[in-house]
Amino acid sequence: MLESPQKIMTIKETNYWLQTGAQPVQGLDGPPPEQVDVAVVGAGFCGLSAARTLAKRDVRVAVLEAEAIGWGASCRNGGMVLTGMKLPVPTLLARYGREAVRRMYAASRDAIDLVEQIVKQEQIECSFSRCGHLEVACKQAHFDAFVESAAEIKREFNHHLRIVPNCELDAEIGSDIYYGGMVDETSGGLNPAQFVAGLGHAAQCAGALLYDRARVTRISSVWKGGKQGFLLETSRGRINAQEVLLASGAYTTEATPALRKKIIPIGSYIIATEPLPADLARQLSPRNRMIYDSKHFLYYYRLTPDNRMLFGGRAAFFPESQNTVRASAELLRQGMIRVYPQLRGTRVDYVWGGTLDFALDVMPHSGRIDGMHFALGFAGHGVAAATWMGAQLAGAICGDPDDNPFSRIPFPGAPIGLRSGNTWALPLAGAYYRVLDWLT
Ligand SMILES: Cc1cc2nc3c(=O)[nH]c(=O)nc-3n(C[C@H](O)[C@H](O)[C@H](O)COP(=O)(O)OP(=O)(O)OC[C@H]3O[C@@H](n4cnc5c(N)ncnc54)[C@H](O)[C@@H]3O)c2cc1C
Repeated sequence: MLESPQKIMTIKETNYWLQTGAQPVQGLDGPPPEQVDVAVVGAGFCGLSAARTLAKRDVRVAVLEAEAIGWGASCRNGGMVLTGMKLPVPTLLARYGREAVRRMYAASRDAIDLVEQIVKQEQIECSFSRCGHLEVACKQAHFDAFVESAAEIKREFNHHLRIVPNCELDAEIGSDIYYGGMVDETSGGLNPAQFVAGLGHAAQCAGALLYDRARVTRISSVWKGGKQGFLLETSRGRINAQEVLLASGAYTTEATPALRKKIIPIGSYIIATEPLPADLARQLSPRNRMIYDSKHFLYYYRLTPDNRMLFGGRAAFFPESQNTVRASAELLRQGMIRVYPQLRGTRVDYVWGGTLDFALDVMPHSGRIDGMHFALGFAGHGVAAATWMGAQLAGAICGDPDDNPFSRIPFPGAPIGLRSGNTWALPLAGAYYRVLDWLT
């Protein structure tokens, strides 16, 4: 199996992005204050974006993070800032109707604009660029669906996606295993660890109180003068809040059992190679796109600013652990070589994993649960969407009209077995997606 055991032995089981100069955000010392207007649970893109917006609007806000600031999926992802949603547009239209999907699609574009605006306004050095994304077709039928989908997206949303037939694909990617592609120039890429750290610093500068190592263990309703408030018990003391915003993503715990039942935590893993010579990097990805394929059990990949190939996928369905991370390294390397045989002799330097928050209907959701605000279900589209959703929820808390298209759709719970974070059924989900990939 292993072509060179020494290569694998040299892999660092650590997140490459954290080695690239992201300035860690120091949380505050001491216990949290007795009372704030809003307590945010979770310091990822969603929680920090919400805290930044709230603090800029003079709301007294505290962010409570169980680990380090930005520790969750937000510092571990592929850094792809993508338009659209996880589900294909025809499925969305059939499910939600034209008007709702128009607003969802517009929100996905606004989300990228918001990321770009925050990066500029807060001067966050995170290598953000509008490099576009490329989706590649693994079967002829997938390419045919791209053509239909691009026409529908143009018609419905006046948004242009460029179809790349197989004979022109080498201008986009140095791989000959695909049947064609589809490019969206609106999408971008960034260094997620630097972006989430920048968001944290911006929230702090605006006046938000950030607490790391402050795990929320229990939240109870408190009624005062006929108004609902909340008491949060954390590993660093108690805090009262008028409003609570749950931004705990795939790492949601038993402290909020109703929310935990709604999500399916699914592992995703990434390897990063040694830096590649510039001409090889250009051959693999001539336009430096954010690339992903058309399978359910998909691969996603891109070059890093220092020309490493960063290659991710759902090598194991379980949330990340030392075992799944280790096992994923070779699985992903084999996947990478199938796409790019040119990388057969290339050293893999890093491997890491993170957990995605999938809702059963594969959609993002926001709204209220047990009187608290929440947003989750971003799956593999959270860099832009979670940042946008955090800002939207902050606006709603401040009394802005709620025009968030994701707060109005039904939010189904996960079936028994996938509920409560139980993971025994995840290999079944993995097998199901592999069969779908084989059949469709
Ligand atoms: C490997 C991987 C690759 C990905 N690639 C991409 C990509 O390229 N593009 C894209 O758009 N999306 C991608 N995603 C998805 C994206 O990273 C997420 O959707 C996004 O980061 C979610 O942000 P969040 O703020 O909702 O959650 P998170 O960043 O996960 O933050 C939640 C935080 O809540 C904290 N928390 C949980 N419970 C408690 C508690 N009780 N008390 C206190 N704190 C708590 C956790 O410690 C965690 O830090 C990827 C995800 C992974 C894992």
